[in-house]
Amino acid sequence: MIPASIEAAQPEGWQAEWRASLTDPAELLAVLGLGSLAARVIRPARDAFPMRVPRPFVARMRRGDPHDPLLRQVLPLDDELRPMPGYALDAVGDLAAREARGVIRKYHGRALLIATGSCAVNCRYCFRRHFPYAEETAAAARWREAVDWIRAHPDVAEVILSGGDPWSLSSARLEELTAGLATIGHVRRLRIHTRLPVVLPSRVDDGLIRWLGTLPWPAVVVIHANHANEFDASVDRALARLRDAGAMLLNQSVLLAGVNDSVDALAALSERLFAAGVLPYYLHMLDPVRGAWHFDVPDAAARRLVEALRARLPGYLVPRLVREHPGAAAKTPL
Ligand SMILES: *Cc1c(COP(=O)(O)O)cnc(C)c1O
Ligand code: SF4
Repeated sequence: MIPASIEAAQPEGWQAEWRASLTDPAELLAVLGLGSLAARVIRPARDAFPMRVPRPFVARMRRGDPHDPLLRQVLPLDDELRPMPGYALDAVGDLAAREARGVIRKYHGRALLIATGSCAVNCRYCFRRHFPYAEETAAAARWREAVDWIRAHPDVAEVILSGGDPWSLSSARLEELTAGLATIGHVRRLRIHTRLPVVLPSRVDDGLIRWLGTLPWPAVVVIHANHANEFDASVDRALARLRDAGAMLLNQSVLLAGVNDSVDALAALSERLFAAGVLPYYLHMLDPVRGAWHFDVPDAAARRLVEALRARLPGYLVPRLVREHPGAAAKTPL
């Protein structure tokens, strides 16, 4: 299925590249020479959360390696179907924190907009994989409900665009939102959580850079990279353009078994982020969402990993290890 947001009247170059994403696990395995994994893969028809992987991300996977850390993040495996107690549909209490259509407020001074339900890539560990996106996007009805709610709440100083992936919307759609927000005096910061600069770097195009230039507030862009192999020269160029446009760049990762649960992998990620002009922000414990239990790393192992990382790297390259507890006043440090 092609998300509505990429059916623009005048498709931008990155949208054509996105449309060419791989959605058939068998095709992905064939590209990688990994037919041996076919028996463990779930068919998209049996799965409400289909596979979707942009080709530039596939290009960074190692051929012939069933343990490739990028592949593991996107390949739907039969592990997902095994029922596991404690793994829920709404793992982080999003539905309870809903304030208006597409607006979630959990923490002081910040409102999070579910900008859209679409993502460039479908990550198997995603905590929003069961969220009822169709009715719940802030972009519906030209953002009006979300903008009105923020206007009526003077304590909201920071608007966080999340999703889904907000940069899967066209730059014109983003401009509609920020033109509305710009009329609200108490908004002082805009934050964007996005995986697109990493998985589809062509999204960082002239239109997006122009849009950043129109913002009356400092922009913080939090990219979501989990492994050093996710970077290449095209990602570096996209990130450099964002920095040149004045954005502050941070990274948030999820600690994922079989992807980045070693000191070497985490250290390499921090070093690679720094080389790309990005500072590590959070390292999240997996949210216990149904279908993702096979990515779980136990608390004790997570603490040991971050201790070892602290002994190896400067403090500013050590992300904060946190977990989200529904109802808590902030992300909780471990
Ligand atoms: C994670 C999150 C935030 C941001 O929290 P920070 O600690 O400021 O990064 C804001 N709102 C919601 C609903 C969140 O889940
Ligand atoms: S890009 Fe983010 S919101 Fe989208 S599937 Fe991946 S983790 Fe989930």
